[in-house]
Amino acid sequence: RAKADGRGAYHFFERAMDEQLQARRALELDLRRALQAGEFELFYQPLYHLGDERVTGCEALLRWRHPERGMVSPADFIPLAEEIGLIVQLGEWVLRRACAEAANWPEHVRLAVNLSPAQFRDRGLVRTVVSALAASGLPAQRLELEITESVLLQDSQANMTMLHDLKALGVRISMDDFGTGYSSLSYLRSFPFDKIKIDQTFVRDILHDSDAMAIIKAVLDLGASMGVVTTAEGVETQAQLDALRQQGCAEIQGYFISRPAPASEIAKMLGVEGRADLGAPSVLSPIG
Ligand code: C2E
Ligand code: MG
Ligand code: MG
Ligand code: MG
Repeated sequence: RAKADGRGAYHFFERAMDEQLQARRALELDLRRALQAGEFELFYQPLYHLGDERVTGCEALLRWRHPERGMVSPADFIPLAEEIGLIVQLGEWVLRRACAEAANWPEHVRLAVNLSPAQFRDRGLVRTVVSALAASGLPAQRLELEITESVLLQDSQANMTMLHDLKALGVRISMDDFGTGYSSLSYLRSFPFDKIKIDQTFVRDILHDSDAMAIIKAVLDLGASMGVVTTAEGVETQAQLDALRQQGCAEIQGYFISRPAPASEIAKMLGVEGRADLGAPSVLSPIG
């Protein structure tokens, strides 16, 4: 019995593998098509300064407006885009588009853009950033590039050189998802980051897990003594905001302030488009 089943299982496994490969191949073609068809779009999520009590930045977050599947989240396509190298082209589009849109925002509002490790394998990355800034007129000081520690993990010498070149342009470098990797602390020593973004998993538990709170406190202290800005990601409630403010956190990001929103809504919120619209419900309405 076992033998017969084993054979059946083998064929089943083979067919499942085949289907998986085909689905992957289909998604790959669909991704390439989507880039040509202009189906990608950027949403932006505000970064809110607790001291200044205003939005001091917005993070660009990629969305795929698929004709049949609707809005597809980056978690569902960025890993494959990285694997097939399409992230280089896609990432360049993101940079150019985001810089062009952010150039219309008030001067005190920075733009944050995520960079994937695969984009560092493209030796043209620094040139792409220079060109996106030049084409848009966005000053380098208003651009923040968010990387995760995997950028420092792989091919670290070449990547480190590129990071220093980017920093020399005046661009800021943020460490994203801080605390989720294997050795986040050692990476803080290896590069002069301008900002640390505390991962949302810590913020989520801040009120009921004293360890999460202790870690956040420690990271805020660390940031303060290193002269690095610390941002808390994933703030969803007033109580979380209050706790973070009490610990001296300068900047927060999360659904409580605003969900990621289309560029036009963000422009309205920042008061740079259709001033008559300022009386309309703000995407910042949860505040106050
Ligand atoms: P990330 O850079 O850490 O971005 C923050 C993610 O947390 C976003 O998910 C955002 O929508 C979500 N978020 C923000 N506030 C809250 C909150 O209060 N609660 C919860 N539960 N979630 C919140 P999103 O937009 O799905 O993006 C996921 C990840 O995909 C990003 O994580 C980033 O690593 C990657 N990504 C997004 N856009 C790009 C891009 O243009 N290029 C690259 N290379 N990666 C991108
Ligand atoms: Mg990010
Ligand atoms: Mg993050
Ligand atoms: Mg993340």
